[in-house]
Amino acid sequence: LLDRLKDPSLVREEMLVGGDWRKEGASGKTIHVHNPSTGDVIASLPSAGLQDVREAIDVAKLAQKKWAARSGKERAGVMRKFFDLVTANTEDLAIILTSEMGKPLAEARGEIAYGASYIEWFGEEAKRVYGDTIPGHQADKRLIVIKQPVGVVAAIAPWNFPSAMVCRKIAPALASGCAIIFKPAAETPLSALALAILAERAGIPGGLFSVLPTDNARMFGEEVCSNPVVKKLTFTGSTEVGRILMAQGAQKIMKLSLELGGNAPFIVFDDADLDEAVEGAMLSKFRNAGQTCVCANRLYVQSGVYDRFIEKLAARVSALKVLDGFEDGATIGPLINEDAVAKLYSHIDDAVGKGAKVVVGGARDERGGTFVQPTLLSEATKEMKVAREETFAPLAPVFRFETTDEVIELANDTEFGLAAYFYANDLRNVWKVTEALEYGMVGVNTGLISTEVAPFGGVKQSGFGREGSKYGMDDFLSMKYVCMGGI
Ligand code: ADP
Repeated sequence: LLDRLKDPSLVREEMLVGGDWRKEGASGKTIHVHNPSTGDVIASLPSAGLQDVREAIDVAKLAQKKWAARSGKERAGVMRKFFDLVTANTEDLAIILTSEMGKPLAEARGEIAYGASYIEWFGEEAKRVYGDTIPGHQADKRLIVIKQPVGVVAAIAPWNFPSAMVCRKIAPALASGCAIIFKPAAETPLSALALAILAERAGIPGGLFSVLPTDNARMFGEEVCSNPVVKKLTFTGSTEVGRILMAQGAQKIMKLSLELGGNAPFIVFDDADLDEAVEGAMLSKFRNAGQTCVCANRLYVQSGVYDRFIEKLAARVSALKVLDGFEDGATIGPLINEDAVAKLYSHIDDAVGKGAKVVVGGARDERGGTFVQPTLLSEATKEMKVAREETFAPLAPVFRFETTDEVIELANDTEFGLAAYFYANDLRNVWKVTEALEYGMVGVNTGLISTEVAPFGGVKQSGFGREGSKYGMDDFLSMKYVCMGGI
């Protein structure tokens, strides 16, 4: 890994505890980071223990007060430098990302730019934390609303976007005047540490942003949910773990943002532009080898265009290139681990056992390891696991439907509510479906919806809270109503 980098100092086999880089954690344990393409260990880091987490929180408490006392404009200036440094180091950050997570380098570059855009956006928002004045209810009263940072924030992130998830969480936290204790996934801590190095170089004060990789995620969750200094937790991961954290946070009525699992429907109506729909399906389904929480999980195609859609999609899926992320032309890298592979094949086997047909793929890739063939299944039905569970792999099951009402019911028949997509042209139908879908985000005639300028988040058991956009700051701010009397 180091040989590939222009600036090898961006890889540090340490953790960052309250401004202090440490080679050893209180747990005495080590985390080995693997390249999922080769299985090689690419770095070994200390695993944070309880004492490290507590120290980071204590230091953050002081650092936060000083940071919040600076003007929004000053915070914006520091974040601008941070953004510039991330941008200038895009190639190295992308290489680190691909090395620890496996995604194709071109996608990794895209992720770095996407993550950086949140630093830029929220840095700018730091200057716009407006309050409100409210006409008084009595002649001698003046009413004001001010917004203040919630204080010390904890963040827990998954491995599928090791860099962008860091940016999406730390940028609004820092912009609003909070400090943040960040726990990356143990599989992918290097991207978070590299960003911390750049944050330090940009002048983000020590102690404001700690990075604590640990093999004891439960310990971290329990501590941040019970330590009275930590006022908020922002979590991206599974609904299962989100539920645990919400229950733990209930003890101190903790402010939470939860971005949890999805089961995105992708609907193609008879009047859709089929080529565009196929293009959208490819982006939405196969980006990151299907390992995103907004990936299309269920493709519903109206019967009039079903066969043609399958034919066109099959041609595109067959052309995907399963390669090591560093190889030229790679479009599908390895899956993150064996569990992910096992889940994929349990979904394929279940579907085939219940009558689905394998149109493309269906087997392990000849490269071995966790490389799998991108797979297209036709004749999927609602009795199959693929209808209910998030596959998180490059598997596209295509269901057939007849009417709008039928597909709305099918699309909403899930406990999840993160992203949904559909392709249609009839204006009335477009509005009807948009309004009927029980999802936090809807892509109409597009398969790509994520941007820093829009609110990302879900409803139902996909969680709550929004990342990005003018709304994204609210999750890190408390509202204070001030009533001035006797005027
Ligand atoms: P995924 O299936 O994407 O790994 P998880 O929800 O298991 O989703 O993991 C997302 C993040 O949550 C990771 O950083 C992981 O270490 C962390 N995590 C897992 N279990 C717990 C827990 N009990 N408490 C706190 N964090 C946890």
